Amino acid sequence: MKPSNFFGETGLDRMSERRGDTVWLAELKRAPDALFSPVWRTRSFIDQSDAETPRSAHLDAAAIAGLTDDESEIIFLGYRSGVPYFSMDVSHLEEPESHPSLIGKGEFADIRDVSLFMPREEGAMLAYAKAIAYWHHTHRFCGRCGSPTVTEEAGHVRRCGNPECNTQHFPRTDSAVIMLVHRGDKVILARKKGWPEGRHSILAGFVEPGETLEGAVTREVLEEVGVPVTNVRYHSSQPWPFPGNLMLGYFAEALSDDLTVCDDELEHARWFTRDELMEEALAFRKQPTAVSIARRLLAEWVTGEEP
Ligand SMILES: [Zn+2]
Repeated sequence: MKPSNFFGETGLDRMSERRGDTVWLAELKRAPDALFSPVWRTRSFIDQSDAETPRSAHLDAAAIAGLTDDESEIIFLGYRSGVPYFSMDVSHLEEPESHPSLIGKGEFADIRDVSLFMPREEGAMLAYAKAIAYWHHTHRFCGRCGSPTVTEEAGHVRRCGNPECNTQHFPRTDSAVIMLVHRGDKVILARKKGWPEGRHSILAGFVEPGETLEGAVTREVLEEVGVPVTNVRYHSSQPWPFPGNLMLGYFAEALSDDLTVCDDELEHARWFTRDELMEEALAFRKQPTAVSIARRLLAEWVTGEEP
């Protein structure tokens, strides 16, 4: 078995079968060993006192008392090593790091910037907390009738508050394909408009309704750079909570060398040889983007590990 990608393995037992047990949950939230991970406007709470190894910063039940007046908005993530983990959105605070419950315990940071250096399971748990916080943030109102929704199932369902409608809404993950397109000794890398200087990556795009994953790979490559592909092979997947995606990684073989940028979002795309990628891999190994599945697909292709 291949190791999972960054953000892929939380080590949590999510215990989904007990999410509806409100008495058990209420006790769990008050347990002396329960730990709570605050999320603030897409940022995760990180203890960076050891600059080499940032860690997830948690609060205990006593510390969260002043942070929310609605306990239903506290989300049960699961158990790990006998410890119940929760997350909570504190985006209503203007200056969260100066709040008495949070001061001196950590800073709010983008997990893309720190997770490469964190214990893998902690980065994955923060990614999970961030993704579900985003879903709550964007589902305050019912998509069917527009009424406010309320949280159920320990934060894993939102139900429409209008009794006539009563629709349950479940957390969403948007599927996106990301593909390394190769031909002989070279691969296609592209650069999106607005990316930081020097960054480029393999092609990616969202899966559309009524489409297979392989179909999305083929369509996206053709739409973005005008190259037909064959031999589309699945590699692995990665939760990518920026803001709420699941990346499905593929290799695909190009049927032509001719490449034309046809997508307005792309600034540039071209073929890169294996030697160019080797140099680039060395330069980027310590960059935050090293956590992405794109880096992994490239690394495996460069070293000849790809199937
Ligand atoms: Zn409704």
